[in-house]
Amino acid sequence: MSKQNQISRRLVLVPCPYEGHLNPMLQLGTVLHSKGFSITIAHTIYNSPNPHNLPDFSFLPFPDGLSDHDLASSDVVAHILTINDNCKKTFERRIEQLMEEKRLQGEIISCIISDELMSFAEDAANNLKLPSIILRTTSAATTFARCRLVTIKEEGGIPFPFQGPFSHDLVPGLHPLRFKDLPFSPSPDFERFVRLIAIAYNKRTSSAIIWNTMTCLEQSTLDQVQQQSEVPVFPIGPIYKMAAANICSGLIKDDRSCLSWLDKQPHNSVIYVSSLGSLASIGEREVSEIASGLANSEQRFLWVIRPDSIRSSHWIELLPKGFQDVVGDKGCIVRWAPQREVLAHPAVGGFWSHCGWNSTLESITEGVPMICKPWFSDQRVNARYVSHVWRVGLELEELEREEIERVVRRLMLDDEGKEMRERAKELKEKIEVSTREGGSSCNYLDELINFIMLI
Ligand code: UDP
Repeated sequence: MSKQNQISRRLVLVPCPYEGHLNPMLQLGTVLHSKGFSITIAHTIYNSPNPHNLPDFSFLPFPDGLSDHDLASSDVVAHILTINDNCKKTFERRIEQLMEEKRLQGEIISCIISDELMSFAEDAANNLKLPSIILRTTSAATTFARCRLVTIKEEGGIPFPFQGPFSHDLVPGLHPLRFKDLPFSPSPDFERFVRLIAIAYNKRTSSAIIWNTMTCLEQSTLDQVQQQSEVPVFPIGPIYKMAAANICSGLIKDDRSCLSWLDKQPHNSVIYVSSLGSLASIGEREVSEIASGLANSEQRFLWVIRPDSIRSSHWIELLPKGFQDVVGDKGCIVRWAPQREVLAHPAVGGFWSHCGWNSTLESITEGVPMICKPWFSDQRVNARYVSHVWRVGLELEELEREEIERVVRRLMLDDEGKEMRERAKELKEKIEVSTREGGSSCNYLDELINFIMLI
């Protein structure tokens, strides 16, 4: 891009206000900034990203209309629908003002890039005659699984929730997903979930789709996506690897002390446990099972317990009495970890994850095999792919201490775990090739930049 273009082109990025969506959008902003674009992050007041972490961007907050009453519920699907209902007009006005302001400064807004769940931004772009692009932050396989889940429900053939023996049957056409792997929403209201799916996948007017996945992981599914899509699809993942800087939302402060604890541990000896991600929560019984399973496995562990993620407590008050004395220096507990650095640390030999798509990508990209215990939504699809397609992880079926002890030891000590670690290293190398010059994600990124310059 010429110097003149570098000064004059701005992109407005509209993330969905949750950790697993904010991170890839902010990382995308960093990638595009390094290619010469100016970046504005247009964000809801709720879960605003921390601007101090992101000095190269400007920020445009807009009211999201979420009341204290809305936020008192943990129904994320309801929150996202409310944001879509509330934001269109105010967002459009803010962007109109920004366009005018930038025009006076000799800058143009090239396009709006919005999270797939923030469809109001696409509507506003249409009204303002601005091009728009969608960012998808889940796997390509999840797209097909979500759409299938809705049709199965609509056909009424199978009662929800999928329980009983047939839940282990394969879903026709979605190999290797079983009915129990379909991406059920955490929302109790299925109609809301259907609305959300419609927002994400109904015929859209955007000019292109950016996808945080890559051909070396999802070649055949991406081929299908590309055949069906009327607009270009750019799989440029893992976006965090394409970004020069290690960017995160700053919604929760990292506890970096765990990195010096890791420095003192032997190679591949630590299981990193972040089993809830940024949204899931558990009760006292489950935390007690996890704690006992980890202690009984006698493996070193770094355990993330997010504040308020154990119901009826603020942090670790409900851990079994004496747990920390029993494990001593073999265990480290933090509120939030610098996860990508943790996974890249040589002491880490395994990752017990809820299998959010970012965590899954990060683990595979750093060559760390996994224990998969999904809770809801696309985590189930990702877990199945990790264990049965890429074969770099073990499924934890029951949250029981004996099973946890067994699975942790299988991953950290047995030959089976070593083989998975080998396969994870091979995948890591493929991803490295893909993100280097001439690799698939890198080439798609170049195509994306050319595309944005021409729209
Ligand atoms: N994460 C982190 N520190 C932690 C736990 C998670 O930085 O202690 C980050 C992680 O690197 C990932 C994001 O939070 O980028 C979680 O996203 P994911 O899609 O895995 O799960 P979600 O939060 O959406 O359930």
